[in-house]
Amino acid sequence: MTTPLPTGSTIGILGGGQLGRMLSVAASRLGFKTHIFEPGANPPAGDVAHAVTTAPYEDAAALKAFAASVDVITYEFENIPTSALDILEAINPIHPNREALRVSQDRLTEKTFLADLGLATAPFADITDAASLAEAIETIGTPSILKTRRFGYDGKGQSRLKSANDAEQALADMAGAPAILEGFVDFSLEVSVIAARSQDGQVSAYDPGENVHKDGILSTTTVPAKLPARLQTDAVLLAGRILNALDYVGVMGVELFVTPGQLIVNEIAPRVHNSGHWTQNGCAICQFEQHIRAVAGWPLGDGSRHSDVVMENLIGDDMDRVPDLAKDGSCALHLYGKTETKPGRKMGHVNRIVSA
Ligand code: AMP
Repeated sequence: MTTPLPTGSTIGILGGGQLGRMLSVAASRLGFKTHIFEPGANPPAGDVAHAVTTAPYEDAAALKAFAASVDVITYEFENIPTSALDILEAINPIHPNREALRVSQDRLTEKTFLADLGLATAPFADITDAASLAEAIETIGTPSILKTRRFGYDGKGQSRLKSANDAEQALADMAGAPAILEGFVDFSLEVSVIAARSQDGQVSAYDPGENVHKDGILSTTTVPAKLPARLQTDAVLLAGRILNALDYVGVMGVELFVTPGQLIVNEIAPRVHNSGHWTQNGCAICQFEQHIRAVAGWPLGDGSRHSDVVMENLIGDDMDRVPDLAKDGSCALHLYGKTETKPGRKMGHVNRIVSA
């Protein structure tokens, strides 16, 4: 059995954005301290953390001092440089593990891992140049999407091909970055499953949520999703398989496309996930507490849903609606304390309780 981290211990979190902030709040409710490592100034997580290190991921001395000051390390984003992980892991354990990061940092590695597990993905091919793209278009066809293998998020680093005529432009859009071509999935719904696995291998999955994106950014998540019971079960089971295969510890977001009778895995995120924010007001134990429990070697909590919820992201000028939302008794506001409002910037979210 795992020895649970005692309260009063310090959890190190790489990344100081809103996810790090909400992880910090959950950790403090369990009696832990958090130490944030973040290159940018004034991180949202800094307001609610015990300590903050402001340094780049290339600063070996800062990484060593950070790792030595904590009892376990986790992260809020997956693009952490390997060199930084090497330094940190020599001093304290990192959860979720390196394999989860390796698999999810690169769309080609990720899709290959999922396909090897026997899970359905969009057809995909490795693209290195114009010739491999032309060959892939022959087999996968159009419409299709060319995506950078790394560093893509919120729809960035993607180029759609309506026909083979778009190949040249799509390749130029990648600006020389390694890419994959994905067949376009004609889905009826996008859903995600947020699931957690403890250090003892216990797995708990939240009900799948239905996601709507605007301009490539998540706009709303609605639970329950309009998903037949059979596919709800499939979604939860496939998330469990992914967690077990990676010997995973922590919370993971699994994004799925729903097609008639089948679930297709789009991508996995080895961290708490925006589409899991509804759990803060729909469940006794939210995704942030579940993640902290897992990385601290505690048992997982009860992730069953007690309410129907619509989570809406407050992006850019949506902040102007906060005074009105604050008057609505069914709305739980979660604001990130960001001082500067920019178009497309996630400033907060609201969980609207639809039924109890
Ligand atoms: P991603 O960055 O892979 O999550 O893609 C962002 C959004 O683009 C997804 O949420 C989908 O709405 C859409 N998308 C991505 N890949 C595909 C695909 N293969 N087929 C259809 N739509 C896709």
